[in-house]
Amino acid sequence: MSNKLEKCGICGCIVHRRGHYAEPTIEGRSHATRHHYVAERFFGRSKNRKNTQREGVFKKCPWNQEKQSTVFCYECHEELIHNPVFLPEDIKLFAELVESRNLNEHGKRKGKEKIAGRIQLLHEIIATGLKSLKKE
Ligand SMILES: [Zn+2]
Repeated sequence: MSNKLEKCGICGCIVHRRGHYAEPTIEGRSHATRHHYVAERFFGRSKNRKNTQREGVFKKCPWNQEKQSTVFCYECHEELIHNPVFLPEDIKLFAELVESRNLNEHGKRKGKEKIAGRIQLLHEIIATGLKSLKKE
Protein backbone atom coordinates (compact mmCIF):
# COMPACT_ATOMS: atom_id res chain seq x y z
CA MET A 1 0.00 0.00 0.00
CA SER A 2 1.28 3.45 -0.87
CA ASN A 3 1.69 5.93 1.94
CA LYS A 4 0.66 8.79 -0.33
CA LEU A 5 -1.95 10.91 1.41
CA GLU A 6 -5.47 10.40 0.10
CA LYS A 7 -7.32 13.61 -0.73
CA CYS A 8 -10.90 14.62 -1.38
CA GLY A 9 -11.58 14.97 -5.12
CA ILE A 10 -13.45 18.23 -4.60
CA CYS A 11 -12.09 20.31 -1.70
CA GLY A 12 -8.66 18.66 -1.62
CA CYS A 13 -8.60 18.05 2.14
CA ILE A 14 -6.65 15.05 3.41
CA VAL A 15 -9.11 12.26 4.15
CA HIS A 16 -8.70 9.27 6.48
CA ARG A 17 -10.28 5.91 7.27
CA ARG A 18 -9.78 5.88 11.03
CA GLY A 19 -13.49 5.85 11.86
CA HIS A 20 -15.94 8.40 13.33
CA TYR A 21 -17.64 8.73 9.94
CA ALA A 22 -20.22 11.54 9.84
CA GLU A 23 -19.63 12.63 13.44
CA PRO A 24 -19.82 16.42 13.87
CA THR A 25 -16.08 16.63 14.46
CA ILE A 26 -13.07 17.33 12.27
CA GLU A 27 -12.50 13.54 12.17
CA GLY A 28 -16.07 12.88 11.05
CA ARG A 29 -16.09 15.65 8.45
CA SER A 30 -12.83 14.50 6.86
CA HIS A 31 -13.59 10.76 6.71
CA ALA A 32 -13.07 9.23 3.26
CA THR A 33 -16.12 8.06 1.33
CA ARG A 34 -16.36 6.51 -2.11
CA HIS A 35 -18.72 8.04 -4.65
CA HIS A 36 -19.89 6.47 -7.92
CA TYR A 37 -19.89 9.04 -10.72
CA VAL A 38 -23.11 7.48 -11.97
CA ALA A 39 -25.30 6.12 -9.16
CA GLU A 40 -25.47 2.33 -8.81
CA ARG A 41 -29.24 2.58 -8.48
CA PHE A 42 -29.42 3.80 -12.09
CA PHE A 43 -28.30 0.30 -13.10
CA GLY A 44 -30.72 -1.44 -10.74
CA ARG A 45 -28.16 -2.10 -8.00
CA SER A 46 -28.13 -0.91 -4.43
CA LYS A 47 -25.82 -1.37 -1.46
CA ASN A 48 -28.90 -1.37 0.79
CA ARG A 49 -30.53 -4.17 -1.18
CA LYS A 50 -27.68 -6.59 -1.79
CA ASN A 51 -28.38 -9.46 -4.19
CA THR A 52 -31.52 -7.81 -5.47
CA GLN A 53 -31.88 -6.33 -8.90
CA ARG A 54 -34.46 -3.73 -9.88
CA GLU A 55 -35.24 -2.26 -13.23
CA GLY A 56 -32.48 0.26 -13.80
CA VAL A 57 -32.89 3.66 -15.41
CA PHE A 58 -30.03 2.95 -17.82
CA LYS A 59 -29.24 -0.35 -19.54
CA LYS A 60 -25.93 1.08 -20.71
CA CYS A 61 -24.19 4.05 -19.09
CA PRO A 62 -24.63 7.12 -21.35
CA TRP A 63 -21.24 8.44 -20.21
CA ASN A 64 -19.40 5.09 -20.17
CA GLN A 65 -18.63 5.48 -16.45
CA GLU A 66 -20.55 2.54 -14.97
CA LYS A 67 -18.95 1.36 -11.68
CA GLN A 68 -16.33 4.15 -11.86
CA SER A 69 -15.83 6.00 -8.60
CA THR A 70 -13.73 8.51 -6.73
CA VAL A 71 -13.09 9.52 -3.12
CA PHE A 72 -14.48 12.54 -1.33
CA CYS A 73 -14.52 13.73 2.26
CA TYR A 74 -17.77 13.23 4.19
CA GLU A 75 -18.71 16.92 3.80
CA CYS A 76 -18.28 17.08 0.02
CA HIS A 77 -20.01 13.73 -0.50
CA GLU A 78 -22.94 13.68 1.91
CA GLU A 79 -23.56 17.38 2.44
CA LEU A 80 -22.56 18.99 -0.88
CA ILE A 81 -23.01 16.47 -3.72
CA HIS A 82 -26.11 14.76 -2.30
CA ASN A 83 -27.98 17.96 -1.45
CA PRO A 84 -27.87 20.36 -4.39
CA VAL A 85 -29.86 23.53 -3.77
CA PHE A 86 -32.66 24.23 -6.24
CA LEU A 87 -34.50 27.48 -5.59
CA PRO A 88 -38.07 27.98 -6.93
CA GLU A 89 -36.80 29.92 -9.96
CA ASP A 90 -34.27 27.14 -10.73
CA ILE A 91 -37.01 24.50 -10.62
CA LYS A 92 -39.23 26.60 -12.88
CA LEU A 93 -36.51 26.97 -15.52
CA PHE A 94 -35.57 23.30 -15.22
CA ALA A 95 -39.21 22.25 -15.67
CA GLU A 96 -39.42 24.46 -18.78
CA LEU A 97 -36.32 22.76 -20.22
CA VAL A 98 -37.77 19.35 -19.34
CA GLU A 99 -40.94 20.17 -21.24
CA SER A 100 -39.08 21.67 -24.22
CA ARG A 101 -37.18 18.39 -24.60
CA ASN A 102 -40.36 16.35 -24.27
CA LEU A 103 -39.12 14.81 -21.02
CA ASN A 104 -42.24 15.84 -19.09
CA GLU A 105 -44.88 13.29 -18.09
CA HIS A 106 -48.64 13.37 -17.63
CA GLY A 107 -49.00 9.97 -16.02
CA LYS A 108 -46.23 7.48 -15.38
CA ARG A 109 -45.95 4.74 -17.97
CA LYS A 110 -43.87 1.62 -18.29
CA GLY A 111 -40.27 2.28 -19.15
CA LYS A 112 -37.77 4.76 -17.74
CA GLU A 113 -36.82 6.70 -20.88
CA LYS A 114 -38.20 10.01 -19.57
CA ILE A 115 -36.42 9.95 -16.20
CA ALA A 116 -33.28 8.76 -18.02
CA GLY A 117 -33.59 11.83 -20.24
CA ARG A 118 -34.11 14.15 -17.26
CA ILE A 119 -31.03 12.71 -15.52
CA GLN A 120 -28.99 13.34 -18.67
CA LEU A 121 -30.42 16.85 -18.98
CA LEU A 122 -29.48 17.66 -15.37
CA HIS A 123 -25.94 16.45 -16.02
CA GLU A 124 -25.80 18.59 -19.17
CA ILE A 125 -26.88 21.62 -17.10
CA ILE A 126 -24.17 20.96 -14.50
CA ALA A 127 -21.48 20.41 -17.17
CA THR A 128 -22.53 23.55 -19.07
CA GLY A 129 -22.54 25.61 -15.85
CA LEU A 130 -19.10 24.34 -14.85
CA LYS A 131 -17.57 25.14 -18.26
CA SER A 132 -19.23 28.56 -18.27
CA LEU A 133 -17.96 29.52 -14.79
CA LYS A 134 -14.49 28.14 -15.55
CA LYS A 135 -14.23 30.55 -18.51
CA GLU A 136 -14.95 33.60 -16.31
ZN1 LIG B 1 -14.08 17.51 0.37
